[in-house]
Amino acid sequence: MHRGDLLLSDDPQKGGDERLAAIERDLKHLKAGLGLLGVAPCGSCGIYYRLSDPGALFDCGEFVCWNCVSRWWLRRCPELSTRDRPMVERELRQWLVGYHHAKVIGKLGDLPEPEWLLLKLVTGCEQCEGSGKTYSGHHCQHCDGRGTVWVVVEQPT
Ligand SMILES: [Zn+2]
Ligand SMILES: [Zn+2]
Repeated sequence: MHRGDLLLSDDPQKGGDERLAAIERDLKHLKAGLGLLGVAPCGSCGIYYRLSDPGALFDCGEFVCWNCVSRWWLRRCPELSTRDRPMVERELRQWLVGYHHAKVIGKLGDLPEPEWLLLKLVTGCEQCEGSGKTYSGHHCQHCDGRGTVWVVVEQPT
């Protein structure tokens, strides 16, 4: 039998805990090191991305990568308070428009065919603040009175 095994078998619980603590310590150092290298993990899939690439991770207190963003939004959106939601929606739209050539579409007829879309999200309409109505009580022209708009990214042709 190996010497190390003998030592550990004296008090397997203690040995295990110490090993776990050592692994946790190493992991912490590794994470700090990766932070110095300018990379951070996506909170959903755990894949590391470069922070210097602003299109790689969407940052809203947690990091989400492009591959996870639509699934993440479906899950996250209902959890947001009515106060936080428009803020996160605006940032998400800006990130998608700014770095992923997304378009904001308010009218159903303007929506591209689904097979041409890489991504499709629904967010509140910014023009009417999600109410579907203008201040004067008229039907919001921007979102056709639905109160929501689509944020879509088309496949490059
Ligand atoms: Zn991800
Ligand atoms: Zn509207």
